[in-house]
Parts: sequence; structure tokens; C-alpha cells
Amino acid sequence: MKIRIVRAAPPKPSGPTVVSGRRFLLVWVGLALSSLCLGCGPGTPSPSAGGKLQVLATTGMIADTARQIAGEHAYVAALMGPGVDPHLYQPSTRDQRRLREAQLVFYNGLHLEGKMVEVFESLAKEKSVVAVSADIPEERLLSWADAAGMHDPHIWFDVALWKTAAETIVAAFCEADPQHSADYRANGAKYLIELEKLDQYCRQRVEEIAPDRRVLITSHDAFHYLGRAYGFEVVGIQGISTETEAGLRRLTDTVDLIRARRITAIFPESSVSRAAIERVAVDAPVKLGSELFSDALGAADGPAGTYVGMIRTNIDSIVEALSGESK
Ligand SMILES: [Zn+2]
Repeated sequence: MKIRIVRAAPPKPSGPTVVSGRRFLLVWVGLALSSLCLGCGPGTPSPSAGGKLQVLATTGMIADTARQIAGEHAYVAALMGPGVDPHLYQPSTRDQRRLREAQLVFYNGLHLEGKMVEVFESLAKEKSVVAVSADIPEERLLSWADAAGMHDPHIWFDVALWKTAAETIVAAFCEADPQHSADYRANGAKYLIELEKLDQYCRQRVEEIAPDRRVLITSHDAFHYLGRAYGFEVVGIQGISTETEAGLRRLTDTVDLIRARRITAIFPESSVSRAAIERVAVDAPVKLGSELFSDALGAADGPAGTYVGMIRTNIDSIVEALSGESK
């Protein structure tokens, strides 16, 4: 059995079955079993050496979420480690091999992994390749100002949206490994409660910042979902993708905004060059807050080494920097 989830212009199903009424979730039933699956029953991947499902995710946020849901039944690895920028990421030969060997692949979609679209399309011909953004209703997605018809991919910054991504991951595990589906659902339900608490934590902490001080200026446009969910105005010096560098106009506009609004702190990001934001900080002048984890988790053994830890660390850093006395 193969699952292919795509967003934007999905192929007309001719033979595939559309399940759950979700127009982007197409399940190809009865296609030839992949080489990994020879000898297994339909829908059951072959056990790997350790008897666990071998899963590969692109970003650390997806890999961590998948691990929480997989529990003991899968080995989940991330392609992109701390500080890695997914917009620019090009898979190495080793990565290509890992992608071929994995039994289930998760990616963000919405062109976050802009250089890997062809790789996913090719992989989807032979295995389950799942975009975790696929089940988020289109009306909940923000548009991508620089690219007509496309959506902002930074969905993990609205915890409510990430709950939908977690549910997509649960469904994919159940599909790939039905004999453990009860465990995947139970782990998923537990994790959703944790995400609900995280969402509440963010809302409570933001209350510590005076309403007129809730302006978040960062290196690139990663935080619009956070802004919408928790009530910040958001300004990214670079665009939504880091592919284009900040123009001089955008730098001077940002400096003007900081002065006019008497903003007390702006924020560098862990996966983006600090050059532009440091220049703005000097020109304004304004304090640089702690580095925010934008498109990658922090070190595995650090406070931002999990999705929940990343979001908490960011909110704590933002509140600490913006809730102080104005200059
Ligand atoms: Zn980004």
C-alpha cells in the first residue's frame, strides 16, 4: 500500500481511493508492493532489522512529533539537524540513500523544503511520503506574499495547526503499520493534550507583554502564524524563504519602525544568517534578544531539542525581551 499526500494541483485520482473526504490524501491500493514490502501483508511494511518501522523526517520538529507518536514501534531520524535551513537544504548522496531506505517519509510541504520537491515526487512512486501540512484546511493557511498562490509553510508556530499535523502523522503511522494502530492513536491522544497545554502556556505568557509592545521583528518571515495565533505584529527582514537577501529598503523601513514604535528588542534566528538583523540592531539602535529557533530545533540535549521545548524557549525569550521597561 502506498500513500501519497500532495497539496496544490493533486493529480486526478484514476484508480486511487480518496479517503476521509480529504482531497489531498490519495491512497493507492493494490499497486505492486515495493521491494521493502515483499513478503508482508498489504499495508504492513516489512519489519526492519530491529523489528521497527524505519522513518525519516525532514525537519527536527516533524521528527520529534513523529517520535512522540511512534513510541517504541518506529525508529525516527531527522535529515536536518540544529541550525539547518530547510529552504536552502539540498539532500546529499547519503541523504538520498537514507530516503530510499526509509519505509515512511514525513516532510512539511508548502514548499518549505523548496529544493526537495522533485525528490519527494520521485520517492512517492515507491513508498509512503507524507506532507504533515496536508490536512490543514486551506482557509487556515496564510498566503505567501512573495509567491502568488502559495502558502506560508511555517505552520509549527501555531500550536493549534501543529495539532492537525500531529493527527496527520498518527493517521500515516496507522496506515503504514496497522497492527500497532491502537498504540499510535493512544500516543497521539496523549501528545495532543501536551500540545493543548503548550498552546495555553503561550497565550498566558504573552499576557505579560503590554499590548502595544507585541511587535516581533526577526531575521526572516517565519513567525506570521505565531503572530496570528498569539497576537503579535510580525516583521521579517528577509522574506518567507531565506533564498532572497534583505533589500536596503526593507532594512531602512525596519529601522524606521523600531524608532517610531520605540521597540526594545529584535531577534536573530538559529537557522538564518545574523548579518541583516545585526545591521538593523546597530542602525536603530536596539537590543538583540535571544536567538529564536525558527526553522530548526536546538541541540538534542538542550531546552529547544524538542518541538514543545522549542516553542516554550521562543515564547520565554520573546516575553523576557519585550516585557521589560521601554527605553
Ligand atoms: Zn523559514
